[in-house]
Amino acid sequence: MITTVKRAIFPGSFDPLTHGHLDIIKRSSPIFDEIVVAVLNNADKHPMFSVEERCEMISEVLPTVDTGECRILVDSFSGLTADFAKRVNATAIVRGIRAVSDYEYELRMALMNRRLEPSIETVFLMAGEEYSYVSSTLMKQVFELGGRVEGLIPELVEARMREKLSR
Ligand code: ADP
Repeated sequence: MITTVKRAIFPGSFDPLTHGHLDIIKRSSPIFDEIVVAVLNNADKHPMFSVEERCEMISEVLPTVDTGECRILVDSFSGLTADFAKRVNATAIVRGIRAVSDYEYELRMALMNRRLEPSIETVFLMAGEEYSYVSSTLMKQVFELGGRVEGLIPELVEARMREKLSR
């Protein structure tokens, strides 16, 4: 019997990683054999963390997440998500949906990606209720204004944000 690895990519900016992202990784792990967390190299968006810093933080936090038999890898990419998915032999793109407001954008992206690469399906997972209002942008805004974000982002990420701001 030939067994094929069911591989998905979970693309995003991850600037920075939140517990919302980790929740989606955990939820998708029983569905796939391998998930590649794919960090988009979007220097033009003026990210808080470089793509290398984002990948490093994700790799450091991942061992704390129980993903069972599913292997989680971290990589970065530039250009089209569909091209990257094809390049790494993924058959699915995982995305999280937090609220109706995510839906319209995600629908457009999913349909465009399907047109670009018909063999790859986008799989949507609903956010955990406790993280449904968590976004990287909101975490950065609150943190920069001195608000509390513990429990919403990993401790290691919070420490790196503190270092960034103190510089
Ligand atoms: P992008 O800029 O591509 O939206 P993000 O890093 O903001 O990248 O998000 C990556 C993916 O993670 C997206 O599918 C997004 O909907 C999902 N996501 C982000 N935050 C959460 C959350 N709190 N709960 C569930 N999914 C989330």
